[in-house]
Order: sequence, then structure tokens, then C-alpha cells
Amino acid sequence: PPPLESPPGNSNVRVVVRARAFLQREIEKGAVNLIEMNPQTQETHLNPPSDRRAKGCERKSFTFDNSFFSIDPSAANYASQEDIYNSLGQEFLDHNFQGYHTCIFAYGQTGAGKSYSMMGTPQQPGLIPRTCKDLFERIDANMNPNVTYTVRVSYFEVYNEHVRDLLVPRRDEPYYLKVRESPTDGPYIKDLTEVPVRGIAEVLKWMKLGDKSRTVASTNMNDTSSRSHAVFTLMLKQIECHDGDETTERLARIRLVDLAGSERANSTGATGARLREGSNINKSLTTLGRVIAALAEDSLTKKPRKRDVIPYRDSILTYLLKDSLGGNSKTAMIACISPTDYDETLSTLRYADQAK
Ligand code: ADP
Repeated sequence: PPPLESPPGNSNVRVVVRARAFLQREIEKGAVNLIEMNPQTQETHLNPPSDRRAKGCERKSFTFDNSFFSIDPSAANYASQEDIYNSLGQEFLDHNFQGYHTCIFAYGQTGAGKSYSMMGTPQQPGLIPRTCKDLFERIDANMNPNVTYTVRVSYFEVYNEHVRDLLVPRRDEPYYLKVRESPTDGPYIKDLTEVPVRGIAEVLKWMKLGDKSRTVASTNMNDTSSRSHAVFTLMLKQIECHDGDETTERLARIRLVDLAGSERANSTGATGARLREGSNINKSLTTLGRVIAALAEDSLTKKPRKRDVIPYRDSILTYLLKDSLGGNSKTAMIACISPTDYDETLSTLRYADQAK
């Protein structure tokens, strides 16, 4: 297969799209593939289904930093889990070892492949396990006796503009953590659990525990997991001893974010709690899109922008992730699309297009 190249230049913001494989039930229904991708130009084309075409609806085309074609494993341009890690994850981890933060978001409707891209399966691990594996391999291979590393993890979700710790056992009463702002370090979550980890097995153990907390919620509260934004963070601290007693510390946060299903942002006809929830998800997702668009523009024009022009404060999610977005941080948005759903796919491609 042709190499998946990084975009030219050294942009700190990447917007990529990934089309997932057909599901068994889609194959059984005889669903038709609406997506074409050109890995040379990184173009993605969305073809309208026949009934729309008959009404004059034309094919829609978009260009992203990468168009990852994961529909057909036998296609020459097929992008596997490994290809995506090699194209994105590795570069971001390099940046972390240089002491900078990174943030990768998975966006898209429920079922479009967000969890698959981030977490994957035991046979086909996604970005999170691959990042962990590479992280600890690099630490173990460290030959510099003057540098020591520590890694901690946290896992929280943002639901209805509230923050919940996923690493503490869920109680019957919902309880939320408070968001504070430190004059030196910016926004942070008070009392959020951060646990030290020594290897990939421990990371995955905590991750599973956190996911369970989300899953429990989903059976009790009618699929909460697709309504909340889950933020998994690895904190890499490098401590370097210099001659004498002096030490320097570098902290990098690796944020891996599984966003709420984007279909909620478009849901209509909801009332009461559902409506509030829908509009809160909408607020986080639209704010995130605007923040990434503003950052992409900055990194393109290289013009310094006053930090407060970027609307971080308009949603809890962007406010909390402020330190991992912009500045020297690298940000990527993976827009996940289904090959068969015209309306949702179009709305995801439009979202990604305005974010780049
Ligand atoms: P989401 O997290 O967006 O709701 P999932 O990641 O759970 O969606 O994906 C829905 C289904 O599609 C899962 O069964 C998943 O294993 C499968 N899937 C998603 N992306 C791919 C892919 N690139 N290749 C093969 N199967 C995929």
C-alpha cells in the first residue's frame, strides 16, 4: 500500500477522516458504499444514494489532512489501525517526549467507529493501547541514567456540562467534580483521581474500570455512554538530574477523547432533560469545532492570536482541555464516518471541514 504521508508543513492541528468497514448487518441488508477516497490527494467524496441522485443531489467532495479508507481491507489504499497509529500516534508521542501536550478527538455519529479508532479490539488495538505500548517501550529503552520517567492516568467524562470521575466507583447519587482555575496552571478538575502506572497492563486495567463506570451508566440511564465525552489522559513526567543537585521537570499530557455521538447534536423534537442534554452536547461539539478551526487558522497564518479570542470558555470540555489545545500542543480530530449513512456522514464531513 502507498505510504500515508503526513501533511506538508508543520501544522499543530490535523483534521482527518476515517471511513469504517461495513458491519455484518449492513452487508446482509445489501447496503451500498457511498464513500470514495483518494489517498494521493486526501480527498473524500460522498455519493448520494440513488433516490437522492434521482432528485438531482450531487456528489460532495472534501479534502482533509488525511482521508483514511478503512472500508475494504483488500483495497490498495486501505488504512489499518497500525497505519493510523504510524501516521498520527507516533508523531504525537514524539511531541510528548519533547515535553508538549497532545490531544486526539474522535468525532462522529454513534456506530461510526470512534471507540474502534481510539480503543479498538484485542486483535485490532486502536490508538490508546498502541500509544501506551510505544510509551512504555520508549521508557524501558531509555539509556540516559540522568532521566527518570513517571506515568499517571486519569479518566473522566463530561456529561451535561458536568465532570464525573470514571476511576472511582459509581454511587447511586450522581456526583460531580468541581472545575477550578489556577492562576499558574489554568483550568483543572478538583479532586480528580490520578493513578501512577508502570506498564500497559495497569493502564488498560484502569481504562477498563473507567469504561465499566460508563457502561453501568448506559444501562441505567438509557445509553449515557454515547451522550458523554470521555477524556482519557496519560501524564508523562520526565525528571532530569543535572550536575549538582539541580533537576528539571517536563510534564506532557496525552489526551485521548471519545466524543459523544454527534447525532445528538442534530436531534430534534426532544424536550425537557433530553433537550438540555442535547443542547449541551451540541454546545460542546460546536465549541470544539470553533476552537479547532481558530487554532488551525492560527497555525496556518502563523499569526499570534490573543488566547482569549479562541472560545475555550464556551464549553466545559474545551475549557478543561485548554492546556492541550493550541500553543505548542498538537491537536488532531478524527472524524469517523459510516460508508452507508448519507445524512449523518454529510453532517460529520461538514463539521470536520469547517474545523480544519
Ligand atoms: P462508536 O464508538 O462511534 O459508537 P464503534 O467504534 O463502536 O462506534 O464502531 C461500531 C462498530 O463498527 C463496532 O462493531 C466496531 O468494531 C466496528 N468498526 C468500527 N470501525 C471499524 C473499522 N475501521 N474496521 C472494522 N470494524 C470497525
